Amino acid sequence: IKDFENKAVLVLGLAKSGMAAARLLKKLGANVTVNDAKDLAGTEEEKALRKEGITLVSGGHPASLLDEADYVVKNPGIPYHNPLVSEAVNRNLPVVTEIELASLVCEGDIVSISGSNGKTTTTTLLYEMLKGNENKKPWIAGNIGTVACEVAQEVKAQDIMVTEVSSFQLKGTKDFHPHVAVLLNIFDAHLDYHGDRLDYEQSKGKMFSNMTSEDVIIYNSDDPVVETLAKHSKAQLVPFSASSKQSEGAYVENGWITFKEESILSLKEASLPGAHNVENMLAAVAAAKILGGSTTQIIDVLKTFNGVKHRLQFVGNLNGRKIYNDSKATNILATQKALSSFTQPVVLLAGGLDRGNSFDDLIPYLAKVKGVVTYGETKGKIAEAAYEADVSNIEKQNTLEEAVKTAYKLTEEGDVLLLSPACASWDQFKTFEERGETFIKAVQHLQ
Ligand code: ADP
Repeated sequence: IKDFENKAVLVLGLAKSGMAAARLLKKLGANVTVNDAKDLAGTEEEKALRKEGITLVSGGHPASLLDEADYVVKNPGIPYHNPLVSEAVNRNLPVVTEIELASLVCEGDIVSISGSNGKTTTTTLLYEMLKGNENKKPWIAGNIGTVACEVAQEVKAQDIMVTEVSSFQLKGTKDFHPHVAVLLNIFDAHLDYHGDRLDYEQSKGKMFSNMTSEDVIIYNSDDPVVETLAKHSKAQLVPFSASSKQSEGAYVENGWITFKEESILSLKEASLPGAHNVENMLAAVAAAKILGGSTTQIIDVLKTFNGVKHRLQFVGNLNGRKIYNDSKATNILATQKALSSFTQPVVLLAGGLDRGNSFDDLIPYLAKVKGVVTYGETKGKIAEAAYEADVSNIEKQNTLEEAVKTAYKLTEEGDVLLLSPACASWDQFKTFEERGETFIKAVQHLQ
């Protein structure tokens, strides 16, 4: 463990992860100062920190804070081009990321999951598959649920910490060393943060830098960039593929999820819809098998897992209709994925904040939809796209609640009723979570 005792550590960015990092550092004996650009004077957070003996400097990023610091711990959301971060780098101050700090105190093995998309789903699936084993207790850390710094302190030597890690978190790591790492895919994303694609790819690759032949990488062999990164490491390689047989890994054969020639479950019986989720399931199965998970439990999870909340989450059956909440779909790409996930007739609920974009890219996906009900700022634009796609039933409403009632009337037994808004929620809701909860409540009122 890096020695933080009596060292001056500057934590940049409060939020949930900064708070957890500051508290952990305090426990390790450091003199901690937290700095946040937002003015937090008089807030509950400030009071709590003061009580715990942690200094808070808020309302700006004065460079003088670096004069006293031995280490800087950075919130993953703060980019490296932030003036204070780049100044710290110029001064050769070690910049430690929250995940690295967590990994320093985690006594058990770390299982890390990364990729542009599917991290939360795969992490949760894997955790559920491993749960209940008291000899090798799994802990989950990441975007949903608890921050790694908080969880890591509880993890005993025989336990494992299953954690999702973003490229933001990986970029600054030096000693981060997972025992099992899963890399799902790499798309063009977050280029504003990373500057260019190469930096983004290299950040993902950093997950593997300290891995040895004792460790295992589970990688998507259908993605050439992922494959290249994996093959550059010294770890044992276990591929997964939704399109071709991988005798040494996970794949689909005759419609069955298969791991090293062992048929696990027919895809027909798996609860998660969509081709993208086949990849997530294959990755989770490979990881669970390698970590000694029981096949019975793996099968059980594949059959019953209803998805992570608000991410194409199966809400339930209502009079023969299947209801899905995909409130996290805040852009067109996510809604395209959701619509491609179903073979049954779909009635779609969409709408939200108008960012000025067109919805033309949705038209080919709307073509096979049975009905579209729009609401919110973009109700007119999306209705127009549905009209272009020749959808037979198109309705506009003001609120999501009204739209749910209208959409239900358009469904019949066997149909899917899907909320996948293709827009951010901020015209009518505080967060996409609140939008999803409103949807679920409105569905419950239908009964
Ligand atoms: P992340 O944690 O990486 O943001 P999630 O599991 O929360 O990923 O999924 C977010 C969205 O990303 C989903 O609603 C779906 O549209 C898309 N997605 C999920 N898994 C994959 C995958 N394996 N490949 C491509 N897209 C995916």
